[in-house]
Amino acid sequence: MTAEPPRDCPLCPRLVAYRRENQRQNPDWWNGPAPSFGDPQARLLVTGLAPGRTGANRTGRPFTGDGAGVILYETLLKTGFATGAYDARPDDGLTLVDCLITNAVRCAPPGNKPLPVEEATCRPFLVNRLAALPRLKVIVTLGDVSRRNVLKALGLPASAAPPGHGVEANVGGYTLLNSYHCSRLNTNTGRLTPAMFEAIFQRARAIMDT
Ligand code: SF4
Repeated sequence: MTAEPPRDCPLCPRLVAYRRENQRQNPDWWNGPAPSFGDPQARLLVTGLAPGRTGANRTGRPFTGDGAGVILYETLLKTGFATGAYDARPDDGLTLVDCLITNAVRCAPPGNKPLPVEEATCRPFLVNRLAALPRLKVIVTLGDVSRRNVLKALGLPASAAPPGHGVEANVGGYTLLNSYHCSRLNTNTGRLTPAMFEAIFQRARAIMDT
């Protein structure tokens, strides 16, 4: 397995069926595994859960086109991990700097909820994604499913880095820095504020620069 699945990856029957249903309904959408986006020499990896149906599943770029992408890309621009401007399109010219974004599960799941077996089936791509970043120092995990999957990809138990916003742990030679997911649900309810999210990436910068 490589770090990036093929466009027609057949490994998860339920997600392949969902992909085909989306292809039938919206043939002009991406409708495939969302490729990782950013700098292949990045020291910072941001790991989400899975593509949103009308976000990365539609546009083909992680977090692009859905509500979570607005705060994520604005925060990356503000903290120097991106240049250009985010315009919710893969051709908006936005460039990530020393940062790469991926998802624990690469295909959009119904209801944004992958099954444990789908997380496990897609995990080798995450393992290889981590291994293919020679300068990696910090992994920002967005939400608990991402945290658990990164730990499993590193061969560690979920207890190796406890849940919670701002929790950090040394794992497999990297620093894992956990954040609440930047979903609309969390940002609209104030569970995750722009300042809280920005602090995560400022902390990532500080760790990278030590
Ligand atoms: S979720 Fe991952 S393993 Fe499953 S079909 Fe998509 S790319 Fe393949």
